[in-house]
Amino acid sequence: MPTRRLYYDDPYLRDFACQVLRCESAVRNSHSAPLYEVVTDTTAFYPNSGGQPSDRGTLAGADVVDVIERGDEIVHITSTAVGQGPASGRIDVERRFDHIQQHSGQHILSGAFASLFGMETVGFHLGDDYVTIDLTAPDISRDQWAAAERLACEVVFQNRPVTATFWDRDAADSAIDPSRLRKLPARTENIRLVDIDGFDLTPCGGTHVRATGEVGLIKVTRTERIRGVTRVEFVCGRRALADYRWKNRAVHEAAAMLSVHGRELPESVGRLQSQVRQTARQLEQALKELYQYQAAAMYDSAEPAGQSGIRVVSWASTDGHDIGYLKMLAHNICERPRAVALLGSSSGESAHVVFEKSHDVSIDMSKLLREVLPEVEGKGGGTRQIAQGGGKRPERLPHAISLATAIVSKAAESSELETAATAAEAIVSADRR
Ligand SMILES: [Zn+2]
Repeated sequence: MPTRRLYYDDPYLRDFACQVLRCESAVRNSHSAPLYEVVTDTTAFYPNSGGQPSDRGTLAGADVVDVIERGDEIVHITSTAVGQGPASGRIDVERRFDHIQQHSGQHILSGAFASLFGMETVGFHLGDDYVTIDLTAPDISRDQWAAAERLACEVVFQNRPVTATFWDRDAADSAIDPSRLRKLPARTENIRLVDIDGFDLTPCGGTHVRATGEVGLIKVTRTERIRGVTRVEFVCGRRALADYRWKNRAVHEAAAMLSVHGRELPESVGRLQSQVRQTARQLEQALKELYQYQAAAMYDSAEPAGQSGIRVVSWASTDGHDIGYLKMLAHNICERPRAVALLGSSSGESAHVVFEKSHDVSIDMSKLLREVLPEVEGKGGGTRQIAQGGGKRPERLPHAISLATAIVSKAAESSELETAATAAEAIVSADRR
């Protein structure tokens, strides 16, 4: 038996009486909570249909968590079972009114795009966060967007009556000029035509305002090109107010930070951005020079070792310099001849190290790193030329750098440059003895 749909006649109805005809366990996956399917003779609950989401509320004391259409029956999905017989239902009217505002606003906005530019609406989505229509246009201009928005709002301000009537195809064909219909009906009988007086006529089974004024503001918020259509995002009524509220606040707060008027924000932010870019360039240049000075000072103060003349620059900083800083410094040191940079930095709970050598030094930095990293319980890797790593024992960093220094110094003292690994073996085994 078809369910009698009370929302057709009164979309503002909150409480209703009905007879529960059936209540069955719903098919569900084994992890979800039990759900029930309840069918009544009459309902005010709107099902998921035509892009408008279903209502919430209570039915015979049970929470209605979803409402679906199955054939000509409406099925309420509830979280608890209910008994057969007389019952009452109550709609969450705040949620319903939101849907009414967005959905009626959609009729008006779609009507505006159609009448001004001949663009058809081929998609509609009403979600919790945003509402969209898809228009048959590869793109729309700012002017078109503004014109449609203006016309839609004028239709709201005119407070035109909105009515819905049922027709059979034959009766509709003889009584209604098809050019007035924005969309042709998909069915042949029980066609419900929604009429925004003198502005838009379209088949629809959804819930609508009584007069356009109830929609409140209609505001397009953005457009997006998607596969040959243009998606138009918009907000109506309370959603438009909420949208305006946060945007107004954001503009005021940002304008106050920059001590400008809200309208001047884009220009001010643009100016600020170019200042930041310039400052970043200056800082980069200054740091480059700083690295060069620092590298030169460190290199000069390191004594050339033995016959090889290698300078071992070792440094364990506790100032929390990041690995980028250590790498830049090591790089600047090792641009000079016969240099090995053994740099480390610790902060809080971590330490990192960078080992690098000049091209004319043959000690393997990657092997050296592997010898030393266990000292700081670290991980890392690299090449013969440069290696880096991090560890979780920052208090052991000075010891790790000393060990690396000792290994390299030993290698550097010998006339023929040994590999670090050979020298390391000697040193580490001596250390453990
Ligand atoms: Zn509708």
